[in-house]
Amino acid sequence: MLYDMPGGARQSAMAVDPAGGGRLIGGMAPTQAWRQAAQALMQGGMNMLLPPHCGACDTAVDMPGRLCADCWSKVGFTVAPYCARCGTPFEIEAENGALCAACMRTPPAYRRARAAILYRNVGRDLVLVLKMADRTWIAPALGGWMAGAGAELLRDADLIAPVPLHRWRLLSRRFNQSAMLAAASRASGATLMPDLLVRARATKSQARLSAVERRHNVQGAFRLRRRHAELVRDKSILLVDDVITTGATAEACVKALLGGGAAAVDVLTLARTLNRST
Ligand SMILES: [Zn+2]
Ligand SMILES: [Zn+2]
Repeated sequence: MLYDMPGGARQSAMAVDPAGGGRLIGGMAPTQAWRQAAQALMQGGMNMLLPPHCGACDTAVDMPGRLCADCWSKVGFTVAPYCARCGTPFEIEAENGALCAACMRTPPAYRRARAAILYRNVGRDLVLVLKMADRTWIAPALGGWMAGAGAELLRDADLIAPVPLHRWRLLSRRFNQSAMLAAASRASGATLMPDLLVRARATKSQARLSAVERRHNVQGAFRLRRRHAELVRDKSILLVDDVITTGATAEACVKALLGGGAAAVDVLTLARTLNRST
């Protein structure tokens, strides 16, 4: 089954696509890669034994790798018009290049931010699903959505890097992030650098913090990996994350990249909240 994507692009909404594409620099250690591949294989085997179910809920579907009709209808895709800078959708007609009030008041450190879906209803469920070990097949499909929403950003990027995860977080989450990243970047000529940034220190979970607390929590929390420091100079970099809410985490990463000499940084996420200040 094919689904119409916003903007007229047509693609298989949930078809599972093997992770790959893009040149890879500074990837994971072979043992770790092997372990992840084994885990994915095992998961694939498990999935074959179970009746196919929706990627966002437990409703049975006719083929594996799909959303049920109800969930599909509740995915809020971000569509134009939106703020040229932060990507916040406008509720009224707006000219190309128009900025939202928040961006006019306080321009973000990044050049542009774009997201495929809104972080609410099924959009929020899909972000949570990305953190689950038994839905690894969903990550490349969601990466495909991101490729559509961030086509312009992908075209302009020299390097693509994810927001680094905590070292002790689940392996499956890292696997999902890598698969999503690879799928999102497939059509781009940019170099994929999964370990360009590292966490300089541990941070508290952002979930229950206010916007100001979030900024403070992640300030200086990320840095460029030393051996890649020379690579970012004068480059256009695309930072990728699962969700952008206040933008505090993205801003902290963007500042680390700009501080390292990057010419500009764009941000592409799977989901976003409705505006910058929530
Ligand atoms: Zn469903
Ligand atoms: Zn804006």
